Amino acid sequence: MPYKSFGFTEEQILMRDNVLGLLDRVLPSEKIAELETNSEYPLEAFHALAEAGWLTLPFDEEYGGMGAGFKDFAVFVEALGYHFPGIRTAYMTTVVYGGLYIQNLGSEALKQEFLPRIMKGDIRMAVAMTEPQSGSDVAGIRLRAIRDGDYYVLNGQKVYITNAHESDFLVVAVKTDPDAGRKGISLVVVDTTDPGFEARPMDPLGSRTTLLNEVFFDDVRVPATRLLGEENGGWRGLMKGLNLERILIAASSAGQCLKIIEIAKAFVEERKAFGKRIADFQAVGHKFAEMAMLTETARLHAFNTAEMLDAGEDAVTETAMAKVIASENNFKVADLGVHIMGAAGYVQGDMQRLFRDARLGTIGGGTSDILRNVIAQRMDL
Ligand SMILES: Cc1cc2nc3c(=O)[nH]c(=O)nc-3n(C[C@H](O)[C@H](O)[C@H](O)COP(=O)(O)OP(=O)(O)OC[C@H]3O[C@@H](n4cnc5c(N)ncnc54)[C@H](O)[C@@H]3O)c2cc1C
Repeated sequence: MPYKSFGFTEEQILMRDNVLGLLDRVLPSEKIAELETNSEYPLEAFHALAEAGWLTLPFDEEYGGMGAGFKDFAVFVEALGYHFPGIRTAYMTTVVYGGLYIQNLGSEALKQEFLPRIMKGDIRMAVAMTEPQSGSDVAGIRLRAIRDGDYYVLNGQKVYITNAHESDFLVVAVKTDPDAGRKGISLVVVDTTDPGFEARPMDPLGSRTTLLNEVFFDDVRVPATRLLGEENGGWRGLMKGLNLERILIAASSAGQCLKIIEIAKAFVEERKAFGKRIADFQAVGHKFAEMAMLTETARLHAFNTAEMLDAGEDAVTETAMAKVIASENNFKVADLGVHIMGAAGYVQGDMQRLFRDARLGTIGGGTSDILRNVIAQRMDL
């Protein structure tokens, strides 16, 4: 299926071709398989993206960034997801979950301290919200930060934190007022080399090159200057990044769909059964038609919503829809992909990996249930 550009500009198409060319060179499929087997972070590819300047993409021009819009960024992240969701996650944890929180909420001094190093790829970051007792219910977090002179002292635990073991700094959601629900949340930047900080990688189904972690804070002292925004004002900061995060997950899911179709297509053109190519069985053709429709729907929602955001619309409903539709379609397409390849899709290999990776989409960044709640709440029922 030829790549269809939904009214992309020449620059956007060039960007896509450029980043895919680079990833083909530094992260070929054999290298992906090796990293996946060893649960190893794609560091070389991350640095190659940094050297080529791609880490500057969403940052403001006054800090040395390219100031990309939502659609630019969605086109870029679709390409990353298409090439390998692991490099998408490596990119997003540092740039979107770390860097953009600092740009959106940080003091001028924090921006000057962090943004240049992030854009050069000198430091890597992640964000820690989820705790053992509260995932979807972010307001219920308990990790306590108590002010002590010029410091906050952190005690508590986070869990399922992507790339915490690979990060130099973490944006951490803490409770500065334990009795105030969402109004008691603050965001601080924690240095992972500080005493009392520990990250322990976990053993997930997919996303094995960007492992998630249990993270422990035992009297970790954070300078008060590393507060992002105002004390107890963290909730608004967390909400601010959601539209972008959701649209990027949608775009990446669409990219993953495109790759699954490509792999399945290469398979059915070669594989024979009952004396003919399995591509010639109508039942197989119908599955491709289904995958194409699911993929097209995912892409339409992702790029249309990105255009709405670029036009300044609030688009909360549409970003929630785009994320649900694209991530659920990604899993359906992966399921069809495995089925089409039979046992060859079930054993270790690119299709199996894409199937496992697709399972995350409907859980991370707000589950499909939570997003359906968001959509329904905005329908004035
Ligand atoms: C691979 C991976 C990477 C992750 N990376 C990070 C990270 O970097 N940083 C971070 O902070 N977190 C991260 N997470 C955690 C992720 O954000 C949470 O898993 C997610 O928010 C859901 O929380 P939970 O797993 O605790 O599920 P719960 O909130 O316990 O939900 C369990 C089930 O109940 C449903 N449910 C809960 N509340 C409602 C409701 N009100 N209405 C309807 N249904 C509901 C959910 O949809 C879900 O099906 C990651 C998770 C995974 C799997």
